[in-house]
Amino acid sequence: MNCETAQSLLFRERVPLASFSTLRIGGTAHVLATPNSVDDFISVRRFANQRGLPIYVIGKGSNLLIDDGLIKAVVCRFGADFSYARITGDVVTAGAAMPMPKLAKICMHHGASGYEWMAGVPGTVGAAVAINAGTHDGCIRDQLLTATVMARNGSISCKPVSDLQLRYRGSRILDTGACVLEATFRLTTSACPAAIRETMRAYMAERQRKFPLGLANCGSVFKRPDAGEGPYCGQLIEAAGLKALQRGDAEISERHANFIVNRGHASADDVRWLVDTMRDRVFQATGVLLERELRYLPHDHKPAFA
Ligand SMILES: Cc1cc2nc3c(=O)[nH]c(=O)nc-3n(C[C@H](O)[C@H](O)[C@H](O)COP(=O)(O)OP(=O)(O)OC[C@H]3O[C@@H](n4cnc5c(N)ncnc54)[C@H](O)[C@@H]3O)c2cc1C
Repeated sequence: MNCETAQSLLFRERVPLASFSTLRIGGTAHVLATPNSVDDFISVRRFANQRGLPIYVIGKGSNLLIDDGLIKAVVCRFGADFSYARITGDVVTAGAAMPMPKLAKICMHHGASGYEWMAGVPGTVGAAVAINAGTHDGCIRDQLLTATVMARNGSISCKPVSDLQLRYRGSRILDTGACVLEATFRLTTSACPAAIRETMRAYMAERQRKFPLGLANCGSVFKRPDAGEGPYCGQLIEAAGLKALQRGDAEISERHANFIVNRGHASADDVRWLVDTMRDRVFQATGVLLERELRYLPHDHKPAFA
């Protein structure tokens, strides 16, 4: 492959982003970069620095509201070569772009329990580590051993989980705008794959019943209060009488009030209006101030390398 072809695979200009978000909303990236190696990623950093552009890293866009209009930045999405899982002894090493449901399946085949909950979380390992994604039945912190991260200054290091300050839907990685390249997880292979498969099926069936999975959505809009121990957001939003409230094609889901769905051509503005309304009306009704889980791009993002 010549240098020009390699460059054109790595960088694309003026790329519509809606198809990179599960909400199917988003404007146009000035540049979309798809690195397939750490060297590529270093080139992306150099490219952005030379042009004075910020870098925003995205995964599957399943927790993301991307602004309408032009995103004047290099939006970076790790390519297929970052979607790997390698097993060595009792450790599994996964690349940043590895989908969580795929990792869950690999662990199942090895009889490793503790990953079942990942089956229904449609994001990538990189984002999941940064967010400390999880459900009632577990979270990333439970199995994570290390994460290899690139800090905003470009230095790469492998950090033990104790250095990452993982908390309910957050971490030091997210706070500092660092980027996860790879992570290692404990693989305790003592369970029966068929039993794990059954648990995963049950989780999926429950999600199918509870969540509006047939429509474009972005998972939970708000974090459960009190670090996941407080009242359920869906119940608070429903009690505030907001189920089915619409703005444009954006709607608070009938099925689960902590979900917003896109019924066709919703804009980021429509979704933000609904999110603000949910927060304000729940606060007026209950005194509980909900904190957003859904991340706004670019608003909530420290440019990876300014
Ligand atoms: C139907 C549905 C159900 C869901 N259920 C759950 C659930 O049960 N539990 C849960 O926790 N989440 C859930 N989610 C939300 C979402 O799947 C998770 O938050 C997931 O971890 C986001 O991964 P992503 O790859 O889509 O990240 P994106 O949405 O693309 O990005 C999310 C954030 O992570 C950052 N990021 C992305 N990649 C990296 C990286 N390599 N390094 C550092 N930061 C990075 C981005 O900058 C952004 O701030 C659900 C979403 C949907 C649509």
